[in-house]
This record gives sequence, C-alpha cells and structure tokens, in this order.
Amino acid sequence: MPAVNTVVRSTPDLKGKLKEVFGYGQFRGTQEAIIQNVIEGHNTFVIMPTGAGKSLCYQLPALVLPGTAIVISPLIALMKNQVDQLNAFGVNAQFLNSTLSKSEINRVKKDVISGEVKLLYVAPESLTKDETIDFLQKATISFVAIDEAHCISEWGHDFRPEYRRIRGIIDNIGQVPIIALTATATPKVQLDIQKNLQMDDASVFKTSFNRTNLYYEVRPKHNTKKQLIQYVKQRKGLAGIIYCLSRKKVEEIAELLKVNDVRALPYHAGLDPHVRMANQDAFLNEDADVIVATIAFGMGIDKPDVRFVIHYDTPKSIEGYYQETGRGGRDGLDGDCLMFYSYDDIVKLEKFNKDKPVTERDNSKLLLQEMANYADSAVCRRKQLLHYFGETYPKDCGFCDNCKHPKEKFEAKDEVAMALKAVVQTEQRFGLDHIGTVLMGMNNAHIESYGHNGLPIYGQGKHHDAQFWHSLLRQCLIFGLLEKDIENFGVAKITDKGMDFIENPHSIKLTKDHNYEEEVKEEQEQEEVQQAAGHDEALFQMLKDLRKKIAKEKNLPPYVLFQDPSLKEMATTFPLKMDDLAHVGGVGQGKATKFGTPFLALIKKYVDDNDIETATDVVVKSAVNKSKIKIYIIQQIDKKMDLEEIASSKGIDMRELMEEIEHICYSGTKLNLDYYIDGVLDHERQDEIYDYFMSASTDNIAVALKELGTDEYTEEDIRLMRIKFLSEVAN
Ligand code: ADP
Ligand code: ZN
Repeated sequence: MPAVNTVVRSTPDLKGKLKEVFGYGQFRGTQEAIIQNVIEGHNTFVIMPTGAGKSLCYQLPALVLPGTAIVISPLIALMKNQVDQLNAFGVNAQFLNSTLSKSEINRVKKDVISGEVKLLYVAPESLTKDETIDFLQKATISFVAIDEAHCISEWGHDFRPEYRRIRGIIDNIGQVPIIALTATATPKVQLDIQKNLQMDDASVFKTSFNRTNLYYEVRPKHNTKKQLIQYVKQRKGLAGIIYCLSRKKVEEIAELLKVNDVRALPYHAGLDPHVRMANQDAFLNEDADVIVATIAFGMGIDKPDVRFVIHYDTPKSIEGYYQETGRGGRDGLDGDCLMFYSYDDIVKLEKFNKDKPVTERDNSKLLLQEMANYADSAVCRRKQLLHYFGETYPKDCGFCDNCKHPKEKFEAKDEVAMALKAVVQTEQRFGLDHIGTVLMGMNNAHIESYGHNGLPIYGQGKHHDAQFWHSLLRQCLIFGLLEKDIENFGVAKITDKGMDFIENPHSIKLTKDHNYEEEVKEEQEQEEVQQAAGHDEALFQMLKDLRKKIAKEKNLPPYVLFQDPSLKEMATTFPLKMDDLAHVGGVGQGKATKFGTPFLALIKKYVDDNDIETATDVVVKSAVNKSKIKIYIIQQIDKKMDLEEIASSKGIDMRELMEEIEHICYSGTKLNLDYYIDGVLDHERQDEIYDYFMSASTDNIAVALKELGTDEYTEEDIRLMRIKFLSEVAN
C-alpha cells in the first residue's frame, strides 16, 4: 500500500495542556468540544450556568493559538482578578482599562505587539477608543472572546450600550473568530446576541441550566426579620449569602444578625475598600458564616460551600435572581434559596427605573413583571425558571416549595381550550393581557379597533377575572401549548401541541396563583389561636415533675428552682439554648446556668419528639435590658448603702425599692443584703424565716406572714429574708 501523504493539521494535545497549565485531569461537560471549535476558527456561542467553567473555553485556545486573544469583559474589578489568576498559572495575560496609567498602557501594548501576551482583557469602553483600535490593527489577534455576552441585548438584565459596538470594532481589526459566552440568556436575548454579533453561523453550546441541588422557595414578606433569624439560626455555622437591595438595608440586616449571635458581616460598594475586602476574606476563610450584601457581592467569587442564598428583597429580574441563587451549592451538595417577595418591592423597583431612557425602562418593567409572575405562581419553580431560559422541564421537580406544598389543582380542560382559541382567533399577534381582555369580554380601544368584540370567543370566559386568565395563559406557555414569539416581544403564538389540544381537548390540571395576602392572614390567625391556647400543658406537667425531682435531689423547695409562671413560659416559647432560657421571665442568667441544663434537655427532647416548630424570638437589639435604676440599685447595694438612702435618692418609697430589688433578684442577679438585714433582724430571727422558706411550698409573702406570725415579723422583714434566701440558694 502506498504511503498516504496528506497534510495532517497538528491537533494540539489539549488534555496535556489542561493538565500542564491548569492542573486539571479532565475536561468538564462540553469544554473540549468548545475549545476544539474555537481552535478550528469557528464562531462559537456558549451558554452555560455560572460555575460551569466557561473561562477555560477561551483561556486554553488562547494558549494554543498563535497571537493574542482579546477578552472583552464588563467588570474592571474582575479583570484584575482573572489576570492575576492566569499569571499565577504562568500564563502571560494582561489587561487594558481605565485604571491603568498612560505608561502602563504603553507597556501593555508593546508586549502585545511583540507577541508575548496570550490573553488581553479589555473593558468595552477602552475597546471603543480610536487609539485602541489602531493598536489592535497592528497586533496578531487569535480570536475575540466576549464574556457576559448578554450585555449586548437590551432585553437582558444588564444591557451595556458599548457592547453593541463590539461587532463594528472587530470588523475594523480584521477577520477574527468570535466566542461569545454568557451564563444567562432567555431565548430572546440569545437571538439578539447572535444577530448583533452577526454570528448566525456560530456553533451553539448550551448546557442545561438546571441546578438539581438547589431548593427554591418564595415566602411573602411578613415578619421578615423574625423569619430570617429563624432560618439562619436553623443553619447555624453554615455559609450563606443574604442579598438586600440597598446599602442601608445591608447594614441593618448585618447588625440584626450580629445581635442575634450570627457571625454576619456586611458587604457593599459604600464600605471602605479595606473593610470590604476584609469582610469578603472573612467569609471565604470561614471567619464569618453569613455575608449580607448588595448584588455587588459574589461576582467572581467561587466559594463552593455556600449552603443558602436569601433574597431579603425581591430581585429585579429572574436573570439576576438565578445568577445569585446559583452561588449556592457549587460543590454539588444542597443549597437552599429563599426569596422574600412583596409586590411593594416590585413597585419600589419600578420607581427606581423612572430616570432611565424609555426603552430601558420598559424592558426593566417587563423583567420585573416576570419576577412577580414567578413569585406568584404555584407552578413548580424549577419548571418556571428553566422555561424562562428556554428549556423544557417535563415534570414537577419535587424539590421546591411549590412541589413540596402543592396548591390544589383544578381541571382546566375547557378554559385552556378557550384560551388557545382566543390566541388563534386574534391571529397570534397579541400579548397575554389582550387575550385575557378578549376572553373576559371587556372593552377598550384595542378591542374596538381590531374588532375583537365580534370574535366567537369574545366574552366566553367572563366568569373568570384577569388574574385567572393571566395565570392560565402563563401556564399554557410553560406546558408548551403556547410559545412566546421571540421576534415580537410579548406576543404569544400557538404551538403544534396547542393546535392539537384545540382539536382533541383532554384533561389538564392547573394551579391557581398564590394569594399571599390570604396566606399571611391564615398564618396570623393560626398564630393567634396558638397564643390563645397558651402553654403546652403536657410539657408544663413534665417540667413540673422534673422540677420536683431535682428539688428533692438538691433538698430545696421546688419554687426556688423556677416558679410556675416561668415553667409556663417555657412551655410556650420552648427555649432550646441557655441564652433563650435566661430570657424567660423570672429566670435570668444566674438561674439558667445553675438549674437550666436538665430543663433545656427536656424541652429539646419534647420539641424533637413532637415536631414542634420553635419560634426563637428576635432578641431586642440592646441585649442589656436592666433599666438604669436597677443598675443604680445594684451598684449602691454593692457599696453597702443604706436602703432608705437608696430609695430617697431615687425618689421612691421602701416598698417600691423592695419591688425593684425583688425583680433584680428574680432575674438571676445575686444580691448581698446582709449588711442591711443584720441591722434590722437578729440572727435567730433570720434563721427562723430562712428555715421557713426552705421547707415552704411557696414563696408567697402573705402565706409566710400568716405562718410566721404578724406579731413577730413585718412584711418588710420577710421580703428581705426572701431576697436573701433566693439570692443564696437560687441564684
Ligand atoms: P464560569 O465562568 O462558567 O462561571 P469559571 O470559568 O469561573 O466558571 O469556572 C468555575 C470553576 O471551575 C473555577 O474554579 C475553575 O477553575 C473550575 N474549572 C473549570 N474547568 C475545570 C475542569 N475542567 N476541571 C476542574 N475544574 C475546572
Ligand atoms: Zn418543583
């Protein structure tokens, strides 16, 4: 056989390079195919969720190909980070942006032209400068990578006008292939990107956006602080991110968590850069568990073990929400995503947009509306999210709030058929609101001018309201009976599946939207019922038995440990920790430490056995709740001041003073009143009262007076001795 003498294009050893430079043994997902495609000089479009490993898709080809790859990236702050990382791998990467001085810029340009630089990161605003274009024309460019390519589209959540000029600039540089990458793109945005970059021919690599290990949950904004603290405390020691919309909110929530013993730190652009960096580092190094942040936080942060992401305020778009929640569970273990939703937030955000140019404002409004739809819907969250990004998720996921607590479904065969007919009869040229209006048989200028009031379907669905139809139509989209027209935003078209349904209608179960107002009301009513029911009688009895047993062991009267009202409160609030116990009325730190442990154990067991949800109360910010006068009294008693004097200096009588002192004593502070008592009662009489309390079944003063004899003792004597007794045996 003759030797075949073909020119074999040398395919570089990509795997070897991957190992050699980056130290990874394996490509992830479609990385290798993408890299191959770029090396072969094809236009490439990569849509992959955050963390999937997009950077490598242009970094590795840049190393293999001759010349310099241009990487366009919108975030200057991230640029330096990425360049540093590459430099650490021994790759010559540099950046051009407004943070560089003139001489630094010249040095970078020189290095690029000499061919040393493999990757040059450029900010879009630097790219559009004439001198940059001149310079790039002189350099050998291997390809252009456009990171965060969704910034091109006005229909996305992060539109940047300079991004729209990229194509023109690339044309000026010469014939170079493009790789565009993004982690978020609705079908509309995808189309926009390809159109704008004129890369309809591109090979598209899209991986599923599904993050199977993330649990999605939406709760109405009600008692939000309390809910937040409970949620975070249930995840004690785990890493979490809490997003708030304003810096002020960030500060407030970080503070709230701190006073509630959560290791939380704030992060926002208004902080001193050193503090901000230190806080970020503390989070990364596990010196803090929770970071409370504006959305400025998290970009480029790759902490794998974030166990929960909370949106304290409703986010501006599903894109943003999805990216932010995407920072949870990067290591593949579970991540909980909780969003607090209120329509007020949507209205507030809409107001923020009022100074934007018209189209941008309208688009922001649509994104917000999608956000509200998502929150309101009782359809599987994952189904909704994936549908939003153009994927079909066939069944309910079983791992979101709507799947875990499904709302009752209703048979919607007739209504769905009606809705689909309405779309067909209006010639597939209208948005959902208009279709709803036709179904309800309402009138407006549009209806009149299109003559839609003459359609057979007009008014057929008047027994349902606008919200019903809107929700139903959205579910038709998710079920693939309708689809959004990508070219004409907002227009709904019928699919083959939808046509089929009109011809052969079949049973279809849909869900009504959440009615959060009602849900909150129900919850409140339940809470009230619980409160009215008061304490848990079974636990109260168990606590009493325990008190009796321990009192016996310690040879103390039971009330010395805890009095009934304290036990009742324990059986109402279920304290699980020493601190919580100390906050129970009549307990205090002293008694909690001295007697608390077995009681806490009992409560814990009871709570576990009976699946009781405990309402760890939000601790008031000022943890010290001793009033000034109490502090004054304690200080004066420490100085052995005469009680009459203390009373008169505070303008109160002896009785009031005694009450204050009893309060102090009952909340666990030890007081030594011997200096005063020794002056009013001799030791023999002191012993008699002391012994009485030791064997009594109650510390009630009236009972004591009766037992001990009103001739012998005054009420004040007994009160004083009770304080002494409790201070010594109980505190
Ligand atoms: P994206 O840009 O898609 O959000 P990155 O490019 O930042 O993701 O990559 C996420 C993480 O995955 C980085 O820590 C990166 O080093 C790592 N990574 C990327 N590709 C691989 C691979 N083939 N093997 C192991 N780790 C990888
Ligand atoms: Zn689900």
